[in-house]
Amino acid sequence: MRTADEYLTGLRDGREVWYRGKRVPDVVEHPELGVGARHAALDFEFADDPENHSLAVTDGHSTYYHLPRDTSALRRRSLLIESSTAFADTLVILVKEIGTDALFALHRVTHGTDWYGRVEDYHRHCREGDLALAVAQTDVKGDRSKGPSGQVDPDLYVHVVDRRPDGVVVRGAKVHTTSCPNVDEVIAIPTRALKPGEEDWAIAFALPVATPGVKLFASDFLHADRDPWTRPVSHRHKLTETLTVFDDVFVPNERIFLDGDLALAGRLALEFVEYHRFTAVSYKLPLVDAFVGLAMLLAEANGIQRASHVRDKLVALVGYAETVRGLTHLAADRCRVDGPTGIAYPDPMTTNLAKWTFARDYHAAVEKVIDIAGGLLVTGPGGDDWRSEEVRPYLEKYFAGAVPAAQRLALMNLASDLLAREYAGYQSVLAIHAEGSLEAEKLMIARSYDSGAAVAYARKLAGLS
Ligand SMILES: Cc1cc2nc3c(=O)[nH]c(=O)nc-3n(C[C@H](O)[C@H](O)[C@H](O)COP(=O)(O)OP(=O)(O)OC[C@H]3O[C@@H](n4cnc5c(N)ncnc54)[C@H](O)[C@@H]3O)c2cc1C
Repeated sequence: MRTADEYLTGLRDGREVWYRGKRVPDVVEHPELGVGARHAALDFEFADDPENHSLAVTDGHSTYYHLPRDTSALRRRSLLIESSTAFADTLVILVKEIGTDALFALHRVTHGTDWYGRVEDYHRHCREGDLALAVAQTDVKGDRSKGPSGQVDPDLYVHVVDRRPDGVVVRGAKVHTTSCPNVDEVIAIPTRALKPGEEDWAIAFALPVATPGVKLFASDFLHADRDPWTRPVSHRHKLTETLTVFDDVFVPNERIFLDGDLALAGRLALEFVEYHRFTAVSYKLPLVDAFVGLAMLLAEANGIQRASHVRDKLVALVGYAETVRGLTHLAADRCRVDGPTGIAYPDPMTTNLAKWTFARDYHAAVEKVIDIAGGLLVTGPGGDDWRSEEVRPYLEKYFAGAVPAAQRLALMNLASDLLAREYAGYQSVLAIHAEGSLEAEKLMIARSYDSGAAVAYARKLAGLS
């Protein structure tokens, strides 16, 4: 397994990354992208810590790469994701979680085809190199009412433009690709079911980020103030998403995992998401726990913990956090095992229910914490004020609540970072869209719920059996 330094050194490989209109010579040294790279390095620091070793390491390799075979392996994976996210102060690290979600799905989907051996070889390559991976699934998609072949520009979904004896050439762009500037390799998979005539879009492959023609245009969202007093979480944690352009990129045969098979492309899009939504709900847990604890501490700091409306809100927050946690565990407990490969996957209906519950009620939970905190979340003093000998005595005198101002403002600052500032905006959109939008989750619940027993029971009650 690699150390954090070895991982960071590996990112200095000439990759083509653009930020605010300029080519980035070194993503680790860059003042903004470096924050993301060091956040990702926490994956390696977490595994290095003897306290986490038994969870983070399996048979000498990162546990992320361990193929789950049963409920206990899925529960352990979920705990690893939850614990490492807590280690990273509520922000998922996501440099092995998403990549292995795709690898598990690729194993299942390609089993029995000539591509399977390549998937196995690639899995071994990633596991033994302890690689950091991004997954580029979401295409830029153009007009959402049309599929790839209906777009005015065929490149709005990544597709094959040339076939050679030793590989294919791909063109197009994916978007929202988390951590792509600071991973070793990127796995690209189809984003949706395809129809006859769309075989060129049915392509899955993996490449080192530094492959010629792979161009990353990094988002500058979270180009934020780095004051640790006002931004206790986001001053040192961030994810970076990219517009990931494949500008006529050559993919050698051994890195092609699927090409031209429409049925398998559709399955891959869905089966990746089954794992990825389970990853999602696992990594949401530290954030929802933080909401609960923070609301309780803010209530005490403001002296309102005994007010009945506050108790009501606290119970609702506990119910929210524990419902998401309970459903996450249940998704693993109800797991299914794929017959041909013996690989386990979380129950799709329960996984989607967990993710939908989290996303649907997220803003209601935010509202409750904001309500308890008060307006200081957006009107409070800055770090320079707090550090100023002239100003601080006034802040200490006038911002005391039921606890001293230092404590109350520390809580306000955490709440402001999580609920009101730039990072809160990021979390807010992440909650709704990442790992699929609300409608996608509802669709999957409707599709995967087995209504037979409920309908039969209702028929019996109505005397219609
Ligand atoms: C912070 C963040 C990180 C992410 N990380 C990754 C990543 O690492 N890799 C990756 O591949 N993706 C990633 N995603 C992408 C994520 O999965 C998508 O944002 C999500 O699937 C929604 O797609 P979209 O953003 O294109 O929005 P759209 O699909 O355009 O959705 C906008 C609205 O249009 C609706 N809609 C879309 N199509 C239709 C249709 N045909 N009919 C009716 N309604 C429709 C949706 O339901 C939604 O209400 C990330 C997203 C975010 C926000």
